[in-house]
Amino acid sequence: MKTIKVSVVTPDGPVYEADVEMVSTKAKSGELGILPGHIPLVAPLEIGSVRLKKDGKTEFIAISGGFLEVRPDKVTVLAQAAERAEDIDVARAKAAKERAERRLQAKQDNIDFKRAELALRRAINRLDIAGKR
Ligand code: ATP
Repeated sequence: MKTIKVSVVTPDGPVYEADVEMVSTKAKSGELGILPGHIPLVAPLEIGSVRLKKDGKTEFIAISGGFLEVRPDKVTVLAQAAERAEDIDVARAKAAKERAERRLQAKQDNIDFKRAELALRRAINRLDIAGKR
């Protein structure tokens, strides 16, 4: 079976590197499925997941936004933060979710609602992906 190299990189270092059969993710423009030989492409990514089909199984990585670059032989995901499903600390994500929810409910002027909303989306995304391991 043909494979394509994929690496997921964050400012803290590489999170994933492997040869896979397919990479799927949701770009801002819509769902992308990348097979070996895909045309070159650069796309911004939302808070969401990167799914990697490897040896017939699917692995999940949580992504907190970033960019996807496709070359015919390689896919690179540059993410602000990325965690493999098995590396997600569920208690930490639950705590982050509760903290963000409290901030969003507080009727105070000094709350940065956009920031709290993004923190909530990251936490929900992590919990969702941790549930798939
Ligand atoms: P928190 O409030 O718990 O820090 P956050 O969404 O603000 O969550 P980020 O700023 O997105 O955290 O990430 C900071 C670093 O911590 C990144 O390296 C990220 O991969 C890691 N990280 C954040 N939450 C988790 C988690 N639940 N499990 C594992 N790693 C996490």
